[in-house]
Amino acid sequence: MLNIVLFGPPGAGKGTQSEKLIEKYHLVHLSTGDIFRANIKGATELGTLAKSYMDKGQLVPDEVTIKMLESEVNKNAHAIGFIFDGFPRTKAQAEALDSLLKSKSTSITMMLALEVEEAELKKRLLLRGESSGRADDKNPEVIQKRIEVYNNETSPVKDYFTAQGKYKGVHGIGEINEIFQALCNEIDSVK
Ligand code: ADP
Repeated sequence: MLNIVLFGPPGAGKGTQSEKLIEKYHLVHLSTGDIFRANIKGATELGTLAKSYMDKGQLVPDEVTIKMLESEVNKNAHAIGFIFDGFPRTKAQAEALDSLLKSKSTSITMMLALEVEEAELKKRLLLRGESSGRADDKNPEVIQKRIEVYNNETSPVKDYFTAQGKYKGVHGIGEINEIFQALCNEIDSVK
């Protein structure tokens, strides 16, 4: 299997690049943010819970997020691989993902990281807030909080995969297609 963790701060372009990668490599795209938003839209119990954290720029608790991700992986038993987008966001999530994949006799192939500096992220998120309908992109304080949460809780996940020799960083500013090509080059070098 080809299992990719697409990593990077809020606004780095994970959603945009995921769409292109799944098309080229026929992977199943699991975006925890998208799944939470679908639950909010469908007014499920999970959606109500997730919304209370997302609106503040906080992470949804690990226990809930991990359970949801596991059930999504299990729903796709015949996938030739996955793109995990927005997951894992904590070290506990990374460990849970490793053991889930191990139980299926597979593993993470690589972590592809989109590297974008903070000023650019804030600009992109506010711009996205004008059209995305996402409450968490409209409020500068919530954006600031998400970037802080990323720096404090999520960036250790980078060290986790670096220690396994799986971290590959790509510069995430420039033409969408050029960034896509850089990501493909990394994937094709291990395939
Ligand atoms: P972005 O990367 O632009 O912040 P996402 O759609 O990935 O957007 O995430 C939106 C929100 O959903 C996060 O701020 C967080 O509240 C919640 N969320 C998404 N993925 C996770 C996760 N793996 N663990 C905890 N919370 C998550």
